[in-house]
Amino acid sequence: MARIIAIANQKGGVGKTTTAVNLAAALARTPKRVLLVDLDPQGNATMGSGIDKRELGASVTDVLLGEATPAEAIVACADGYALLPGNIDLTAAEIRLLDAQGREGRLKAALAQVRGDYDFILIDCPPSLSVLTLNALTAADSVLVPMQCEYYALEGLSALIDTIDGLKGRFNPALEIEGVLRTMFDVRNNLANAVSAELTNHFGDLVFRTIVPRNVRLAEAPSHGQSILGYDRASRGSVAYLGLAGEVLRRQRERTQKQKENAA
Ligand code: ATP
Ligand code: MG
Repeated sequence: MARIIAIANQKGGVGKTTTAVNLAAALARTPKRVLLVDLDPQGNATMGSGIDKRELGASVTDVLLGEATPAEAIVACADGYALLPGNIDLTAAEIRLLDAQGREGRLKAALAQVRGDYDFILIDCPPSLSVLTLNALTAADSVLVPMQCEYYALEGLSALIDTIDGLKGRFNPALEIEGVLRTMFDVRNNLANAVSAELTNHFGDLVFRTIVPRNVRLAEAPSHGQSILGYDRASRGSVAYLGLAGEVLRRQRERTQKQKENAA
């Protein structure tokens, strides 16, 4: 059964999509089976996966509206993972879901049909706490939060964690924080270093050890419809996302181990 990880932060441009695509690609280099869900009307994860968002057959929108099964909409990507693509049609789904019954549980119900086929399902969320993000947080086992180490970052992170705690009670009591990922990091920036230190003080082990550096190759890769592993395997960005995948896999092994011990 797949572990379902929502990649979320209501702040825009913090590296959610870059993380979703490249973590999917890095995990797919192992024997793990990976599905990436593009839940953002911007369709950036779809384009970044080499799939043209303007020419989709069925998409995640149809799945949310009950007009297609996930299997009908999922496509294979060159980087070795499967994609449930999304595009601007998602805004229509958002509006139609607003007064639908059980609207926040649509994605969870849909993913239940394919969960057995994957080891990891990653969901790229839009930069808002809309009904789409609510669907992701309801379906997920955990949330991975990418953040930039800026002045207001900690405040934003505390607000996000409060929101997640609030949602948990109502929709998904078991929701965990997978981890906080420092993105677009510039080691020469004193403020970034200070915020980073404060982050690890406050959140301890929740902060991934891997730090994603600011790396122009990461920004270039999507325009080639490739992950950083396909585009420039030796780049610092690529090394970072492989490191992140290693950490996610290790945490997963530790959880499985604990479950076994608890069961014994
Ligand atoms: P949105 O909230 O709009 O969905 P996002 O959180 O998904 O944005 P991204 O699209 O991943 O953020 O990144 C924002 C921009 O920064 C993109 O142009 C991306 O290519 C670039 N970028 C992301 N990570 C890095 C990095 N580590 N180094 C350099 N550029 C990066
Ligand atoms: Mg994005």
